[in-house]
Amino acid sequence: MAEEECIFCKIAKGQIPCEMVYEDDKVIAFKDISPEAPIHVIIIPRQHIVNLNLLKQDEVEIIGHIFMVAKKIVKTLGIDKSGYRIVNNCGEQGGQTVQHLHFHLLGGRMLKWPPG
Ligand code: 5GP
Ligand code: ZN
Repeated sequence: MAEEECIFCKIAKGQIPCEMVYEDDKVIAFKDISPEAPIHVIIIPRQHIVNLNLLKQDEVEIIGHIFMVAKKIVKTLGIDKSGYRIVNNCGEQGGQTVQHLHFHLLGGRMLKWPPG
């Protein structure tokens, strides 16, 4: 999908509204429109990267940054001690529906394992 059509690029550019949780020059985090848990935040790089399959070596730093941002968010939302899950869905069988690399941050309830 072209970057111009990408819903998460539009959110990152402020062209589609979202309930923002965190932003900086590299990433943005916002509440999922269809939450699967009391806390369900989506964290994305501002840069359009389709998924892990297309991540380039010189883009690898963003992944570490996203996890450091997640660490901040869980503390702010008060689920750092109770626990949480970070999920990346990749490709069709992984359940990826939006073709812009993103991480789900889920918490606020007991999460089952394994996922369906
Ligand atoms: P995926 O299935 O690709 O791993 O996750 C995409 C996630 O993005 C889904 O959980 C879906 O609810 C969420 N989502 C899709 N469109 C929007 C939107 O326009 N706004 C927000 N906040 N979340 C969205
Ligand atoms: Zn995008």
